[in-house]
Amino acid sequence: MSTDLNAINQAIFPSTAARNAEGELEIGGVAATALASDYGTPLFVFDEREFRARAKNTVTALRSEFQRIGADAKVYYSSKAFLCVEVARWAIEEGLHIDVASGGELAVVLAAGIDPKLIAMQGNNKSRAELREAIEIGIGSIVIDSAHEIERLSEEAAKLGKTVRVFLRVNSGVHATTHSFLATAHEDQKFGVPLTQAAELIERIRSDANMDLRGVHCHIGSQIHAVDGFVESAARMTELVAELSKTGPVPELNLGGGFGIAYNEAEVESAPNIFELAKQLADTVAVACERAGIPVPLLSFEPGRSIAAPAGVTLYAVGNIKTVDLTVSDKAADPADLGYTERRYISIDGGMSDNLRPAFYNATYTARLANRTSSAPPALSRVVGKHCETGDIVLHRALLQSDISEGDLLAFAATGAYGWVLASNYNYVPRPAVVAVRDGESRLIVRGETIKDLVARSVY
Ligand SMILES: *Cc1c(COP(=O)(O)O)cnc(C)c1O
Repeated sequence: MSTDLNAINQAIFPSTAARNAEGELEIGGVAATALASDYGTPLFVFDEREFRARAKNTVTALRSEFQRIGADAKVYYSSKAFLCVEVARWAIEEGLHIDVASGGELAVVLAAGIDPKLIAMQGNNKSRAELREAIEIGIGSIVIDSAHEIERLSEEAAKLGKTVRVFLRVNSGVHATTHSFLATAHEDQKFGVPLTQAAELIERIRSDANMDLRGVHCHIGSQIHAVDGFVESAARMTELVAELSKTGPVPELNLGGGFGIAYNEAEVESAPNIFELAKQLADTVAVACERAGIPVPLLSFEPGRSIAAPAGVTLYAVGNIKTVDLTVSDKAADPADLGYTERRYISIDGGMSDNLRPAFYNATYTARLANRTSSAPPALSRVVGKHCETGDIVLHRALLQSDISEGDLLAFAATGAYGWVLASNYNYVPRPAVVAVRDGESRLIVRGETIKDLVARSVY
């Protein structure tokens, strides 16, 4: 593990991130200080080359490995990770299809001028209006999430006199969040249908003149580092395809997304490499198909985080700092803090409104001083937001230089996924702007909200 607090690890930050001659962090050839003064903070910065390279590598890795076993693969970008018109175009230009999970996401993707055939719609509670719009525009496919949705979609397609291409989302029983493979597929969660009901529901879909069954779908979770979870799920789903193929065609198998990334040094080793993961998945599916005596179907995948997260960096300005004496703290000390006599609370100008993940699921991040380097000794630190919640923490525990002070810029790495899209207006804080950087140039791709925008929502 690197102990140099000035070091920029490109396995966590975008590969164009580096210190310039002045010691400032640069991303895509643009200095963090210039970005902060041109656009303000907090600011989401997307490295266009990093996003595109990750998108392209994912397509290349999966297609070449499945072509090796005589089939092919398709990659959807899971747009809920991060979406705006510009980024939707990057994904399509790099050869991806695109997943949406609401009418709002669909509207952004359509505003990008994307062919509806390249779009798939997900979600456990698509409204009838969302289903109708998807059918009317001739969407690529709809992933049906429940028995109830088969009936709703069938009714809406019949009313419109159209046929819609569908997948059925099935729980493979592989539970990534607990790192355990459940014995039964009756997962007690809201998404998908149990494996045991798949055959019956597939027959129901096949018998419907307004539905064209394209295949089955599963998604085992997110930020997964254990490749064996994907492998197990792929094996089970291939067995399901084999069983369902006895009564009719199942052209496509969608194995979902969830590929993990490194947020911290400790995760760099274990984060799956897309080329190795693709190889293992192709081998698994090839063996399972051969055993079952079926041809390999078309495979599809839908990563979001692994493409968007490492391309994004958030810049914050430091405000108030306070130091808490841990020797008189009335709270039981975290064992990790033993030996430290004080903790610095570094307040930044954003917080849980632009990055909910630490408060939501204890996510951790890598933060670096962005406007300069510092050789001051490390201090036990906590980076907190400006909101009225004790849990408004963006970095629970880190050793950061003890001279960090008001006006410094902090850069948080790997914030490109599930950050800006989960942003709120808590405390009437405007949601930040998003800029793209490339080859020394920056440009705004999402306008930041202003306080005026927020006041204007009140009716008076
Ligand atoms: C969120 C989601 C994904 C993408 O997950 P990542 O962890 O971002 O790769 C893919 N498929 C479905 C159905 C999802 O809900």
